[in-house]
Amino acid sequence: MILDQFSLAGKVAIVTGCRTGLGQGMAMGLAEAGADIVGVDHAGMDETKKAVESLGRKFLPVEADLSTIKAVETVMVKAVETFGKINILVNNAGIIRRADAIDFTEKDWDDVIDVNLKTVFFFSQAAAKQFLKQQTGGKIINIASMLSFQGGIRVPSYTASKSGVMGVTRLLANEWAKHSINVNAIAPGYMATDNTALLREDPKRNQAILERIPAGRWGLPADLKGTAVFLASAASDYVNGYTLAVDGGWLAR
Ligand code: NAD
Repeated sequence: MILDQFSLAGKVAIVTGCRTGLGQGMAMGLAEAGADIVGVDHAGMDETKKAVESLGRKFLPVEADLSTIKAVETVMVKAVETFGKINILVNNAGIIRRADAIDFTEKDWDDVIDVNLKTVFFFSQAAAKQFLKQQTGGKIINIASMLSFQGGIRVPSYTASKSGVMGVTRLLANEWAKHSINVNAIAPGYMATDNTALLREDPKRNQAILERIPAGRWGLPADLKGTAVFLASAASDYVNGYTLAVDGGWLAR
């Protein structure tokens, strides 16, 4: 039955950047659908652990800095040691730096590209190797952005990274679909998290953004739960290389 296909009972999901924000929301959604969670973040994940465990699911926190790819192998080893397998990877950890393009520094370029694009690629590669070893297939969900579709302003490395995420999502889907590995992305719209705190604190930008969102409100981490569960589940087995916007209508405008 179709609703059974959305169940993640018995599945194991790695969610990066799940201390707070969208990663926390998606980890909770996947846990609500039945998955155990391997959380990866460079800071404490106690709140997420508590929330996932209160749903009756297991939560393995792995503290790691994803600004380099050094930790990727360790995370995979710890996850497999603990749960014996991995079924889902959500590449969510991401950062943003704001400055005029004319003044943008090499550091702000490299820092953002490293976390948002390089680590996303190599984490996907490590997960796919594990899926192939298990011969189970698997699900990879990358977190893209409105700036995978639009240029944005004052965020050059962020736009480059998120445009790259959409491209790499397609490339990996093309190479791995034949192995029953689904690679897709979610492009969140304007969501109320730490990432957008500065925008929301600026009354002018805040109002301009709200006026342009057909739904008339900022998105919440919980708004991603349904899409994350869909893309992590058997219900999306024939969805490959697609970037699905969850944006209150922003891109339709
Ligand atoms: P956030 O700042 O609230 O959360 C980011 C998470 O990533 C945090 O838990 C943080 O600790 C973790 N993280 C950051 N750098 C890390 C590193 N080097 N190593 C390990 N963990 C690290 O932001 P968010 O809004 O929840 O963003 C989550 C993802 O969604 C990001 O990829 C972001 O670009 C994307 N996104 C956000 C919005 C939005 O409006 N908030 C819109 C589109 C896309």
